[in-house]
Amino acid sequence: MFEEWRGPGREVAVIGLGKSGVAASRLLRRHGVSVYASDGGAGVALADQATGLGAEGVQVDVGRHDLARIGRAAAVIVSPGVPPEAAALRAARDAGVPVLAEAELGLRCLAGSRVLAITGTNGKTTTTALTAHLLIAAGLRAASAGNIGRPLSAVALEDDPPDWLAVELSSFQLHDMPGLAPTAGVLTNLSPDHLDRYATLADYYADKAQLFRNAADASIWITNGDDPEVQRMAAPVAGVHRRFSTTRVADGWYDRRGQALMLGRETLLPRRELLLLGDHNVANALAAAMAARVAGVGLVALADGLRTFRALPHRLEPVREVGGVLWINDSKATNIASTEVALSALDRPYVLLLGGRHKGEAYTRLAPLLAKGCRGVVAYGEAGPLVQADLGGSVRVVAAGDFADVLSTAGRLAQAGDAVLLSPACSSYDMFRNYEERGAQFRAAVESL
Ligand code: ADP
Repeated sequence: MFEEWRGPGREVAVIGLGKSGVAASRLLRRHGVSVYASDGGAGVALADQATGLGAEGVQVDVGRHDLARIGRAAAVIVSPGVPPEAAALRAARDAGVPVLAEAELGLRCLAGSRVLAITGTNGKTTTTALTAHLLIAAGLRAASAGNIGRPLSAVALEDDPPDWLAVELSSFQLHDMPGLAPTAGVLTNLSPDHLDRYATLADYYADKAQLFRNAADASIWITNGDDPEVQRMAAPVAGVHRRFSTTRVADGWYDRRGQALMLGRETLLPRRELLLLGDHNVANALAAAMAARVAGVGLVALADGLRTFRALPHRLEPVREVGGVLWINDSKATNIASTEVALSALDRPYVLLLGGRHKGEAYTRLAPLLAKGCRGVVAYGEAGPLVQADLGGSVRVVAAGDFADVLSTAGRLAQAGDAVLLSPACSSYDMFRNYEERGAQFRAAVESL
């Protein structure tokens, strides 16, 4: 691969200069490839990246993409945040330049590591982190990588890469990974998402299906047996199929009556020993355990690992109880499906903070769940008026302004014994840099109550 990309007048274009683009540029340089890296954004952090890369011999453009130059590249490496229809990618495709995900580049340089690939609409990060945790707790040389925040190219730059990689892959990444052939692949679930960035739902699902693109008889697929869309997608795929379910007996399943996580006929763990809220996290735990099983981890080690795992930040993360009110940070819930999941996981009355930048789905879908335990919805951000229009007829909706107002309104509505749940079903970009900043501000405000 690098051979074809080297030589006089040849260069590879890297699109996007976040962590992934920077690592990819370095990896290419290490293999003697000339690199043109560009990012449409601006700002101090980017300028710093550009200076650093420039010193390593990378040609950098910040604030623009030279589309003609990209069209002449030997290949294009694309960062995970860049949507498939971005102008720079269109320029590459129109010119017949092969486009590869940064994750594909990284994986091609990690031939000695075995890969457990994890995708789906929700639960990717939790399942990936949990899988890596189980592998490491069992004493294997393992790490998490990919969309979870550690680019595969960065792992490939390390001296002694791990034997096992739990790799989180988004639909955008899967779009450009022609060589992907994991030892095992996990599909957590499928539901409408990213309707703001994909033309149709079918396009989004088609990218998810790329997990299976190189399926062979020896492939192992771990899929959600409770999700009809997942099962429809997986049905024709070659390989060994293992399913997890929280509703019926499966390869990995939740014995609700016995209150235990099960692998086939064997008890894996009593439910109460898994310190994560909600059935969705039981599903994530089963998927992770089944993935770690593929790496040879035994039942006892799996149970030990599951016991010591804690909720990741911004994912149904209990922050603090104040005056009998439990404040929960689920800032990562940026679509309706995730918010539904959070509501189902609560076992007390609650005030829900709903809003941000609208992503395309109607909020009416939440009404049946809200009818059960919701004391009130605080509607805010760009989506506030839509939330009010969609839900105002079925539950008490109170409009709020800035985030401080959102939190004080919630504090007034909540009574002792309630939860206040930040599970916004929207992206954060109207008021915050990202969902992490939204969650961090929530946490800081709650800690100072
Ligand atoms: P992802 O990386 O796919 O976005 P995360 O593990 O970060 O997933 O979880 C994001 C949100 O998605 C959580 O806050 C939760 O509300 C929801 N979620 C997590 N796991 C599941 C699941 N298995 N099914 C449905 N929703 C889930």
